[in-house]
Amino acid sequence: MSRYDSRSSDPTSYRDRRSDSGYGGSTGYSGSVRSSSSKNDYYGSEASKKVDLDGLPHFEKNFYIEAPSVAAMTEREVEEYRQRREITVEGRDVPKPVKSFRDVGFPDYVMQEIAKAGFTEPTPIQSQGWPMALKGRDLIGIAETGSGKTLAYLLPAIVHVNAQPILSPGDGPIVLVLAPTRELAVQIQQEATKFGASSKIKNTCIYGGVPKGPQVRDLQKGVEIVIATPGRLIDMMESHHTNLRRVTYLVLDEADRMLDMGFDPQIRKIVSQIRPDRQTLYWSATWPKEVEQLARQFLYNPYKVIIGSPDLKANHAIRQHVDIVSENQKYNKLVKLLEDIMDGSRILIFMDTKKGCDQITRQLRMDGWPALSIHGDKSQAERDWVLSEFRSGKSPIMTATDVAARGLDVKDVKYVINYDFPGSLEDYVHRIGRTGRAGAKGTAYTFFTAANARFAKELIGILEEAGQKVSPELAAMGRGAPPPPSGHGGFRDRGRGYGGGRSWS
Ligand code: AMP
Repeated sequence: MSRYDSRSSDPTSYRDRRSDSGYGGSTGYSGSVRSSSSKNDYYGSEASKKVDLDGLPHFEKNFYIEAPSVAAMTEREVEEYRQRREITVEGRDVPKPVKSFRDVGFPDYVMQEIAKAGFTEPTPIQSQGWPMALKGRDLIGIAETGSGKTLAYLLPAIVHVNAQPILSPGDGPIVLVLAPTRELAVQIQQEATKFGASSKIKNTCIYGGVPKGPQVRDLQKGVEIVIATPGRLIDMMESHHTNLRRVTYLVLDEADRMLDMGFDPQIRKIVSQIRPDRQTLYWSATWPKEVEQLARQFLYNPYKVIIGSPDLKANHAIRQHVDIVSENQKYNKLVKLLEDIMDGSRILIFMDTKKGCDQITRQLRMDGWPALSIHGDKSQAERDWVLSEFRSGKSPIMTATDVAARGLDVKDVKYVINYDFPGSLEDYVHRIGRTGRAGAKGTAYTFFTAANARFAKELIGILEEAGQKVSPELAAMGRGAPPPPSGHGGFRDRGRGYGGGRSWS
């Protein structure tokens, strides 16, 4: 029997806690701040305000016991392991990573599901994220879809649920997972169902655009895990179909995407209804300022774990071309490029802003190009439709903002065009990584203006590492020289006609 099994004979196990807690379901808590002993804590910035935890029953959130095999790892071994698996950690008292599933000590019923799934070892985010999450501390995880992050937070969630008092009639969920889109919410639910079934943990998925009836019925029956998009969840709370008084484990998945989609007010409203001493796990693929600001308000003394090489590298199967242009040349350059490469293959064009996306898409359509756009201001139904048109190839050109396109798993994108250069080199690598997937070759074209000059040096590094050519103009910008006068530049090596013999990289 595992050390987390709530049905063990451990005197601190769930039944005992249940009888001391006297949890009655009504907390009386209505604040939105977290308690803290340190006023200077970087996180939990509102922590110095007094939090009234009176009437809130104690709950258990630290379940971690380091296995002897993990304890035996030397600091050097830990460091080497993290380096090899591209794990970077921050925070106080960071636990050592676990190298095998056995090292985590999950309950037997979870181990059986892992074996059934055929997994051989924890992914990097799991090997470092599990001990962190099981310790009951707040956690920031910077990892992408595909990294195994869903199980990184769901398996500790299952352990957490099994150690809490059972639900009483009228109780809301114990675990709440907020996700930006229905697609992601459903994906998360599939994992929750698979891995939670054997311990009889019930879950439901709450998202908009479908009838409420079945969701209301699930909530009324009582579910330990709710996976929700913010709008529909608020709707359910306001109509008293659920409440968040029992939530002690909160997950915000793809926080960057939720903010890009304008969910900031809804997220705040939801979190304000959850007891402040909850455990919060905050996931994002990127770490822009807004995402960090929200984390500061919602998390207390968090660990941070970042997955991926600190040295950015692009996929070598992608040919990268960079064209030095002026802002007002961009549209004509785009059209010329499309004329050259368009053969019915999927082309993904990235823009900086939602407005830019709409404008260029409109213009392209007026000029006869089969383009649609996807960004955070579009409704779920419209996004679904645009994606299916793009996937099926009916509309082979799609324009997108960064965050709306993140996590999109569209196969066979042949070309990525950076109409606007992104705000970071990480985004550049993410964007072009939409092509060249699963062993295919891909090509990325990037418009680069004088306003982007500050990225030139790092961009050159990425191009060189991937064995791509660097044009003399870009090289000069990388040395801090002013960009060449407009009118130069274009994409070489595209085969047919256009741009031959000019200054392309
Ligand atoms: P996610 O990043 O959570 O979207 O996970 C991506 C996929 O990886 C999902 O299909 C998971 O079932 C799968 N997965 C999760 N953990 C592991 C693991 N340790 N080994 C192999 N596959 C995994």
